Amino acid sequence: MSASPEHPLGIEDVVSRGGLSPASDSLVTIRCEVCGVMQRASKMPLEPAEDPSEITAYRCRNGCAVLLVTGHPSPIPLPGAQRSRIGDYGIGANTTAGIEGFPGGQP
Ligand SMILES: [Zn+2]
Repeated sequence: MSASPEHPLGIEDVVSRGGLSPASDSLVTIRCEVCGVMQRASKMPLEPAEDPSEITAYRCRNGCAVLLVTGHPSPIPLPGAQRSRIGDYGIGANTTAGIEGFPGGQP
């Protein structure tokens, strides 16, 4: 039996599984570098991640690109992504602008 979580694995799920302070997807914001829209993770459409080491992808609400991924931590192979390991899982941000509202600062 695998203990791996299944899609959708939200940011708040990763954070709580990692034993960090409770977070909410509604507190996490990220700017899409394609359309320039700052948006809350809770408003972004979720889709199953394509890469097997990733679980859930957060897409820009305008459909431009995947901005965030959650998944297994080593590695999250998103080119140019910022990556953070939290417990047994990880979060990757596919933007140089980073994430705001993330507990403890930038992942
Ligand atoms: Zn966009």
